[in-house]
Amino acid sequence: MNLNAFPRCVGINTTKADTDRPVVEMFHVYKRYGSRTALYDVSLRVSRGEFLFVTGPSGAGKTTLLRLLFLDETISEGQILVDGINLQRIPRNRIPLLRRKISVVFQDFRLIRDYTVYENIALVLEAKGASPRHVPARIRQALRMVGLEDCAHAYPPRLSGGEQQRVAVARAAAANPLILLADEPTGNLDTETADMVMALLIRLHRRGTTIVVATHDDRLLSKAPARVVSLAEGRLYGAQA
Ligand code: ADP
Repeated sequence: MNLNAFPRCVGINTTKADTDRPVVEMFHVYKRYGSRTALYDVSLRVSRGEFLFVTGPSGAGKTTLLRLLFLDETISEGQILVDGINLQRIPRNRIPLLRRKISVVFQDFRLIRDYTVYENIALVLEAKGASPRHVPARIRQALRMVGLEDCAHAYPPRLSGGEQQRVAVARAAAANPLILLADEPTGNLDTETADMVMALLIRLHRRGTTIVVATHDDRLLSKAPARVVSLAEGRLYGAQA
């Protein structure tokens, strides 16, 4: 697979209606943890190919919102559709298929220390059902995109934080996702390295990937041609309902 060939195909039988379909639709979503309500009545639509920032201070509900989208948490009330699939109605056996369409980049990189860079990416590609014969080329291309093709056999602890995050972006991109969710992706990085990681996300976006970045860092907002919505105490502002 050629990562440079974004925007990628969205399926052989894709119709115009499919490509016009929002990637994410949230309708009056609430998320409660016991007596604490982390999200109140959140409605949001993310179009295919959009770059969206979700801002807000710590504790506003940004991580919770992303976790709902990648099915790491269940919704308390309301509905979420990802690529037209209602997350509350999806049969359990189809959840892995939906997860394959979603890549996540975390603040703390989440690379496996005892696996090489190559193995870290291969593990995710295999979990997402990539054909084994395409895996080496996809990894090479993804590492080339982030400028780390010489680090394939390095172990993450030997890399700087910025390099580890670039590997995490490569891992996310190699999976060829419909949507890439990034939770404070620059939170552990210095300004210069943060800008480099943002530039990579912008590059992926230009190639057709839908990107949602949660951040409390307003400095990032000027770095991408993105729509901005903000969360405050679990309520979303600036979104079209
Ligand atoms: P942010 O990402 O904007 O910092 P979070 O989504 O992490 O915000 O948290 C939103 C609110 O939900 C906070 O009050 C937080 O304490 C609470 N919260 C998040 N996760 C859990 C959890 N697993 N159990 C209980 N409360 C949680």
